[in-house]
Amino acid sequence: MRAEIISIGDELISGNRLDTNSQWLSQQLGALGIQTAFHTTVGDCHADNIGAFRNAVSRVDLVVSTGGLGPTADDLTREAIADAFHRPLALRQEALSHIEGLFATRKRPMPERNRVQAMFPEGARIVPNPHGTAPGIDVTIDSGDHTCRVFALPGVPAEMKQMYQDTIEPLLISEHGAGKERWFYRELKLFGIGESDVEKLIPDLIARDRDPVVGITVSKATITLRIAACCESEDAFRNRIAPTEQIIHEKLGLLVFGSGPGDLDEAVAKMLDDHQLKLGVIEFGAGVWIAPALSKHQTTDPEYGLVAARWYPQLPVVSRSPEERDASLKAIAEEMLRSESLDLCLLVATYPPIADVITSTTLPSSDFTMVLARKGKPSRLTQITLGAHPEVLYHRLAKTGLNLLRTELLQRD
Ligand code: ATP
Ligand code: MG
Repeated sequence: MRAEIISIGDELISGNRLDTNSQWLSQQLGALGIQTAFHTTVGDCHADNIGAFRNAVSRVDLVVSTGGLGPTADDLTREAIADAFHRPLALRQEALSHIEGLFATRKRPMPERNRVQAMFPEGARIVPNPHGTAPGIDVTIDSGDHTCRVFALPGVPAEMKQMYQDTIEPLLISEHGAGKERWFYRELKLFGIGESDVEKLIPDLIARDRDPVVGITVSKATITLRIAACCESEDAFRNRIAPTEQIIHEKLGLLVFGSGPGDLDEAVAKMLDDHQLKLGVIEFGAGVWIAPALSKHQTTDPEYGLVAARWYPQLPVVSRSPEERDASLKAIAEEMLRSESLDLCLLVATYPPIADVITSTTLPSSDFTMVLARKGKPSRLTQITLGAHPEVLYHRLAKTGLNLLRTELLQRD
C-alpha cells in the first residue's frame, strides 16, 4: 500500500509554519508497513486543492490530508474533495449534533458558519473529532483501475493525532490488513571519507530497487548509511539486513564508527570509558567543539574520560618558522600530558573565527595542525588540509581530531 500525505494551508507554503503533520503521519504509516510515496503541500486555493486530491488519488492507494476543515472561507478541503470527485456535499445530522453539543458544553452559541463543518461529500464516513468542531472525512474513490481511500483530518496537530490514533489506524489495520509488517531502520555512522567515495566502495548496495534499501546522508561531516526494510519483527529485520551489514563492514572497515543516533564524540567517549583512559584536550581558535562535545558524555568512573580541557583564542606563537611553531605545539600538548597525568592529550589548531563560520562563503582557512601526545610514546603531529563550507569545515576539523583519537584507541586493542 502506497500513501500520499497532503498538507493544506497558506501558512505552510509561505514558510511561516513548518509542516510537522506530514512528518508525524509518515512515521505512523511506516510503523504499519505503509510506505509514503509523496508529500504534497498546497495553499488555500480551491482549484489547487482539487488538483492535489485528483493527482494523489490517481497514483496511490491511501491519501491522508490535514488542514482546511475549519469553518472559515479559507477552509476548502471538503469542497475540494466534493468537486474533485463529483460527490456533492450534504448535511449530516449526527455531525451537526456533535458540533452543537460542543458549543453547548462550552456555553457559547454556535455561529451559523460552523454548520458547514457538518457537510460531507456523498458516500463519506465521518471521522469523529472528540475535542474539536472539525470532524474528519473518510471516503473511498474508485477510479476504475484502482480504489483509493481518502482521509481528511483537521490541521491542528493535537486533534489530527488523536483522530489518527483513535480511528484511522484501527481502520487501516482492520480493513486494509496494515500493521502485519512495519518499516525498521538501522543507521551506521562513518567518518573520514567523502559521500561519493562511500558510494564507489559499495555501489550495489545503494541501488534503489534493492531490498533492504540503503541510503546515504551527510550531516556535519558525519556520513550515515541508513538500512531500511519492511519486516514482521525486529528479529526478522536483523536477519534480513545481516548480509547487507556484513558487506558494509567488509568494504568500509574502520570507517564505520558506530550505529544509532550517536556521533563520533559519543563513540570516542565510550572508548575512553571502556579503556579507562584520561584525556586532555587543547583547542585553539574562536570556537571550540571537542571538549564541550566530549564533556556531555559521562564515564562510569569520573576519573576517566575527558578530565582536562584548555582553550586559547589564538596560537601563542605567530612569528616563528613553521618548524618552531610545530615544536611549540608539541611541547604544549606534552606539558599538559605530564602536568595533568594524562594518558592522551589532543591538540587542535586553529578553529576558524565564528563570524567566518556563520557568514563567510569563502574558506576561512584550509591548513590545520593536530598533535596527539601519548603517555610512553612519541607524540604525533598531523598537518591536514580541509575544504568545505565554513560551517561544515568547523565540524570536519573537530571530528578529524576525534577520529585521530579513535584510530589511536583502536590500535591499543
Ligand atoms: P480549524 O478547525 O482549527 O480551522 P483546520 O483543519 O482548518 O482546523 P487549519 O486552519 O489548516 O486547520 O490549521 C489549524 C492550525 O494547525 C494552525 O495553527 C496551523 O498552522 C496548524 N497546522 C495546520 N497544518 C499543519 C501542519 N501540516 N503541520 C503543523 N501545523 C499545522
Ligand atoms: Mg482553519
